[in-house]
Amino acid sequence: MVAEVGRRLRPRQDEFVVRGDGGALLPGLADHHAHLAAMAAQHASLDVSALSRDSVASPLAQAVAGEDGWVRAVGYDDVVHGDLDRTLLDGWNRVLPVRVQHRSGALWVVNSPGLERLGAQSATHGGIERDTAGRPTGRLWRADAWLREALGGRPPSLRAVGARLAALGVTHVADATPHRDTAAVVSEAVRRAELPQHVMVMAAGADLPPHPRLSLGPLKLVVADHALPDADDLAGQIRRAHADGRPVAVHCVTRTALALTLAALDLAGGRDGDRVEHCAVADRAAAEELAARRIRVVTQPTLIALRGDDYWGRVDPGDRPDLWRYAGLLRAGVRVAASSDAPYGDPDPWAGVRAASERLTPSGRVLGIEERVPAEVTLRGLLSPLDDPGGPARRVGWGDRPISSCWTGR
Ligand SMILES: [Zn+2]
Repeated sequence: MVAEVGRRLRPRQDEFVVRGDGGALLPGLADHHAHLAAMAAQHASLDVSALSRDSVASPLAQAVAGEDGWVRAVGYDDVVHGDLDRTLLDGWNRVLPVRVQHRSGALWVVNSPGLERLGAQSATHGGIERDTAGRPTGRLWRADAWLREALGGRPPSLRAVGARLAALGVTHVADATPHRDTAAVVSEAVRRAELPQHVMVMAAGADLPPHPRLSLGPLKLVVADHALPDADDLAGQIRRAHADGRPVAVHCVTRTALALTLAALDLAGGRDGDRVEHCAVADRAAAEELAARRIRVVTQPTLIALRGDDYWGRVDPGDRPDLWRYAGLLRAGVRVAASSDAPYGDPDPWAGVRAASERLTPSGRVLGIEERVPAEVTLRGLLSPLDDPGGPARRVGWGDRPISSCWTGR
């Protein structure tokens, strides 16, 4: 508890003194968008993101199976590593079941032993891509919930993730995973104190046990660019969330997805707390529309530090000035907060503060010089409450705040 704040307080005899060395005592930081269960799974995976096209095959061929009998790899990128399907994966490893996650998190590629184990041939999930003969190609699109069920088994422990985030100063996390079974894993981990953080769950139909560190947040909706919804359908989903008393948090990566989301929000009517996740392409007009509707934006600066060159190379050149804007959104009057999107981005909030102020890509290019944001502004966003990203910063003060939610840093 914070019992007293002041200069030259005298410690009582039994009190333990922690030297701040001139640093600031901050409240714990909030990660406004992360995927806790996926972070835990990442720990137990082969990361191929740093491997070249020619060097990706042999670690997959030599990999040993994890606890569940599978080889699990993450960080695969079609542009770097080439298109991947069951046939190619079988060429590398046809002995063990292998599943490889695309860096976006939206796609898994599975080899033949894996598909057999999952029963993919006879399964009905719409994300199981099939060739003209109806045979699964190995590509599973946005099929995480189905995959988890088909895999069975115990979810990984979240203890290491909770400890790592606590060491980085993160005491509050918005779990942006849309699936209710993942939300159940996360809320159970909070209840068992594997996760010491306050967690706001954004999944649909999440049935949370009453707990002082668990809360239900906005409903996560994904506007997927490979299957754009109709504006009326999206408006219907938004209306239902609002009727349930929940704002929405809409995943938007492209200009089209953002335009569609704004149109759907106009049809449905806004609710305080509505937010756009990523907002990776937004021009001046879109920024003004977001501000006028008081829609918050939750952005991910470390994705620029990790993949800024890819974004630059891949997007339509006309979209380049509007990529991953931060300062420009603030100038337009939008409430913005940074987050990690871990495990896809860097979970270290201090890496996020640096990335937002430098906006350096891996090759050293500055992506959007006008979009750089001073460290204290990004920090303020990390101090904003989970239910008001970009709102007023939480502070250390008198009262019944648990001291474990504070962090000393220079
Ligand atoms: Zn995410």
